Amino acid sequence: MTTGIQADEFGAKLKAREVIKRLRIRRAEDISIEEIAWVAGAIVIDGGLQGAEARLVHSPGADKAILRVRGDVAPSGRRRFAIAHELGHLKLNHRAGSATQCSEKDFSAWYQGQKNQEVEANIFASELLMPEGLVKAHLTRTLPGLEVVERLANSFDTTLTASAIRYIELCDEPCAVVYSSNQKVCWFRANPLFRGWIKIGGPLSPNTHASDYFTTGTASQRMEIVRKDAWIDGASDRSTIKEQSRAFPRYNSVLTILWAGD
Ligand SMILES: [Zn+2]
Repeated sequence: MTTGIQADEFGAKLKAREVIKRLRIRRAEDISIEEIAWVAGAIVIDGGLQGAEARLVHSPGADKAILRVRGDVAPSGRRRFAIAHELGHLKLNHRAGSATQCSEKDFSAWYQGQKNQEVEANIFASELLMPEGLVKAHLTRTLPGLEVVERLANSFDTTLTASAIRYIELCDEPCAVVYSSNQKVCWFRANPLFRGWIKIGGPLSPNTHASDYFTTGTASQRMEIVRKDAWIDGASDRSTIKEQSRAFPRYNSVLTILWAGD
């Protein structure tokens, strides 16, 4: 649902932090999504869903909910993220008293201006599954790139996209994450150190490695130096930026980390 106002990302983060604090979670392995759901009044059931990845049915005032996840959601990190996302809808009182049904498209809504409640549920989920203090402990002496993002996704058992967003939020290098689908930029998120604007909805420049995936079916797996104006609107054609991209063939999408540092 688009309301025309900005998603309340800070409010969503605060709610997730309350849960982490109340349950005294101090290690990544303590984040049991089923236990968190149980404390929130939600029972998790796998299977029995078609046409959606997750569904939350919440009875108003009864403080009880049934949270269903499609049986074939894999790997485990995707399932955990789907449950955490639905818990976000529950804890943030989205559409209280009615059923919430979410798809892969909702789990990919990370950009202000997309569906606000979905963005808030995603922000809640990433804060819940990857608490700031625990993530920061993983970031010492690491170089930006998808290798550290993959390590985060493994350590916290969540999705690569959520881990990439958490990474750029908490690292101290000028970085952005870009999600492209069907050869177009769907959204990007950048940290305050990153200067420049990436055009949403625009076609990928043929000078990007992300574009290679859509045109040839493969793309370099390494961090590569590319022309900055291939990504950044109005950048000088003489400056460069680093890009590392990873394709999700199942969704015909590419996740890219941009690093504007040395
Ligand atoms: Zn949702």
